Amino acid sequence: MALRDQFPILQREVNGYPLVYLDNAATTQKPQVVIDAMNAYYSESNANVHRAVHTLAGEATEGYESCRTKLKQRFNASKAIITSGTTEAINLVAHAWGRANLQKGDAILLTEMEHHSDIVPWQMLAEERGIELRYVPVTQHFTLDMEAFTHALDGAKLVCVVHTSNVLGVRNPLEEIIEASHKVGAKVLIDAAQGVPHSTVDFTAFGADFMAFSAHKMCGPTGIGALLVQPDAFEEMQPFMGGGDMIETVTIEGSTYQTNEHKFEAGTPRIAEAIGWSAALDWMNTFDLDAEHARLIEIAAWVAQELRSMGITVYGRHGEHDAAVVSFLHPTINSEDMAHLLDARGYAVRTGHHCAQPLLTRLGISGTVRASFYIYNTRKEAEGFVQEMKEITEKFA
Ligand code: PLP
Repeated sequence: MALRDQFPILQREVNGYPLVYLDNAATTQKPQVVIDAMNAYYSESNANVHRAVHTLAGEATEGYESCRTKLKQRFNASKAIITSGTTEAINLVAHAWGRANLQKGDAILLTEMEHHSDIVPWQMLAEERGIELRYVPVTQHFTLDMEAFTHALDGAKLVCVVHTSNVLGVRNPLEEIIEASHKVGAKVLIDAAQGVPHSTVDFTAFGADFMAFSAHKMCGPTGIGALLVQPDAFEEMQPFMGGGDMIETVTIEGSTYQTNEHKFEAGTPRIAEAIGWSAALDWMNTFDLDAEHARLIEIAAWVAQELRSMGITVYGRHGEHDAAVVSFLHPTINSEDMAHLLDARGYAVRTGHHCAQPLLTRLGISGTVRASFYIYNTRKEAEGFVQEMKEITEKFA
């Protein structure tokens, strides 16, 4: 079956028009195999994981742990902690590694391109511990100011950087950042929420100490994500949430903890979601992601060029390794109005600050309209979108 036909939601209409889903940077749609895997768990194998010996518990445990195994295989990682998403994964680093390893006067280097989920946890820790936060500026070419990065790196203990901007689609020079950071002894956290849906990463070769991402941006369910950790950084992490499953023994006097990833997965985990993500990871192996990425970035670059030719400002550069995200602002039509006009014809796009207010402040704007493309989007849909934008511009501008 053609890739696109495997997504039941793409058959629906919105306001009497076929749905054209261009809000993929917010969340992607799910193929039937993911929906089926989650339904099968609830209708056939529902049980809690890890403790009981009965058949259903065994099936649930196997399903949950298969997600971890597949994550390790796909990203060549030795430690994969399952979290509720990118946000929890970053907060986990702040609590489990940051609190154990950072003290008053230490510095964390962030960038102005970060999503709020890679800013706010560090602001909270900085306030609690008296840590200095430094921000690498974004240039007028929508890239990180690497000269400023080099200067700000001196004395930093941790560098946190977004793999690919959710507003601009720009992929950062991560290899250079990781190498330079390690030279000064700083650990590196990559927010790969928008990166890994578009490209495969060999985490061990890549060398970042921590990498966070969410299943729902790569055809998996909501409510689940992962934190990949290199073995030495893993040893430096202290448990954050206490409770069932993360312990080895508990007495009235105290507790001892698991030594593997379970140490950071207290309580009943996201079993159905892990089973759904496991199915999504298998499914992602059925096509060539690099080829899809090349096709999508070509579409995005073409859309960006067409919008610019209509007098619309486009934010981003749409280079070979960037994500297929087109953020734009019409000179006279308000973003919310634009999104409503598009929705009236079946086009789903996002507006607003995209949880990246410092970046938008740097760009001198308060929001954009964002059209983001993923593997099931077609050139024909992009052409329809451009045509619709022309008609809206002619009618309302
Ligand atoms: N980081 C980036 C770059 C994102 O685009 C997002 C989500 O939009 C997040 C972090 C947060 O992801 P989640 O809400 O799945 O935790």
